[in-house]
Amino acid sequence: MNRPADMTASLDLGLPWNNRFAGLGEAFHSLRSPTPLPSPHWVGTSPAVADLIGLDRAWLSSPAALDAFTGNLPIAGTQPLASVYSGHQFGHWAGQLGDGRAILLGEVDTPLGPQEVQLKGAGLTPYSRMGDGRAVLRSSIREFLCSEAMHALGIPTSRALCVIGSPAPVRREEIETAAVVTRVAPSFIRFGHFEHFSHTGQHDHLRTLADFVIDRFYPVCREVGGNPYAALLEAVSERTAEMVAQWQAVGFCHGVMNTDNMSILGLTIDYGPFQFLDAFNPGHVCNHSDTGGRYAYNRQPNIAYWNLFALAQALLPLMDDQQQAMDALEPYKALMPAALQRRMNAKLGLTEVQEGDAALTEELMKLMAQDAVDFTIFWRRLSHAVIGNLEPVRDLFLQRDAIDTWIERWRARLEDQPGFDAATTHAQMLRTNPQVVLRNHLGELAIQRAKAGDFSELARLQNALEHPYEELPGQEDLAGFPPAWAGQIEISCSS
Ligand code: AMP
Ligand code: MG
Repeated sequence: MNRPADMTASLDLGLPWNNRFAGLGEAFHSLRSPTPLPSPHWVGTSPAVADLIGLDRAWLSSPAALDAFTGNLPIAGTQPLASVYSGHQFGHWAGQLGDGRAILLGEVDTPLGPQEVQLKGAGLTPYSRMGDGRAVLRSSIREFLCSEAMHALGIPTSRALCVIGSPAPVRREEIETAAVVTRVAPSFIRFGHFEHFSHTGQHDHLRTLADFVIDRFYPVCREVGGNPYAALLEAVSERTAEMVAQWQAVGFCHGVMNTDNMSILGLTIDYGPFQFLDAFNPGHVCNHSDTGGRYAYNRQPNIAYWNLFALAQALLPLMDDQQQAMDALEPYKALMPAALQRRMNAKLGLTEVQEGDAALTEELMKLMAQDAVDFTIFWRRLSHAVIGNLEPVRDLFLQRDAIDTWIERWRARLEDQPGFDAATTHAQMLRTNPQVVLRNHLGELAIQRAKAGDFSELARLQNALEHPYEELPGQEDLAGFPPAWAGQIEISCSS
């Protein structure tokens, strides 16, 4: 049944909605309601995100919820809008972009602070440019699963409440079907929002936006003395460094680190052609559209700096001089490698960073790259090796002598730690090195089944991803090596 939105009726979810972003004024957005989709059906839901925004879990599976989160039924208290931003895409200034297919409903005040709720794929907006305002089922499932997987890994990310499918056709390389993801984050403000107001010379609005972000998310920037906008830049670069360090440590490639996809809160957002590494290849490029390899795995820390530099340029009109911006960016250069080494040390079972640890890690990465060792499986096997035998780790390498030498160095460093206890280190490493991540082929299998109307594989995968450090009985296939066809999967910007 095709249910058109009845603009006279609206649904009261009983949530404390606020519309603070809407309150910024017309320069920041266009009020726009979602465009209804025919015959919506549930694809996946996340009860944990329902809890986060104070939504009754049971109600989330109701027909009214289905209509509300498809965008077919207005929600009382919301003020739906699309925001305007600009950005650098693949290193080039792209001019005005904006929410071309995401509609911000509003924000819900929760005990953990405000949470914005967006419908992605909810129809045309004034910023849709050549696009159709829609998202296809496959990419919506990937965003849904990855949001929840990253959260369970402890990586800052936007969350996903649900995915809803519709038989409405959507044209990409072939005809696919539409879907809507309801995503949730304290704010979806991007570096590109700042670039927009800076590059268009709207410096009053730039200041309004920066004050909005500082007041709500970085109040300390006003308390440290000095220029609060320089302090904001430094704080954002700290959060970005921590986020990217976590990406590197888990083998996550974002795929499209354009400045319009960089969260001002240091959250992983805009899941598109992302990938978790299978065989370790430091130069791996997951996005088939990224022909120059700009967003290769090992370039992510530098690209984040490039993006922070673009943010710094955007904030210049609010600073005293250029030096202030450069000074604010400077700490990133040391913070980023330090954050990464801390993460890598934890993966190795080392509680503190010492001189020589960087060399130990580098040598390992070199050996893993040479033998194209599976990233996730290596770390999990290494964790178990602390109390067991090392054969499963050695089995991953062709160059046994080289890995044996490395293992000796690592064991010596491990056992040298004051109060070293193998059982404690084993448990700590198992909490640090996931056994299941959202590999491309796992997502692909769930997507193929979902396209055929069977959502059980998606639910099984979601459950495993929500408990990435647990060895779930009967789910061993999710933790195994990727099949040969995994290497053939091509993920592009098309979504
Ligand atoms: P992305 O890099 O995928 O996050 O998208 C870049 C820009 O294109 C953003 O402004 C999106 O809102 C917009 N966009 C992507 N796909 C579509 C679509 N199908 N319809 C409208 N806008 C889109
Ligand atoms: Mg984007």
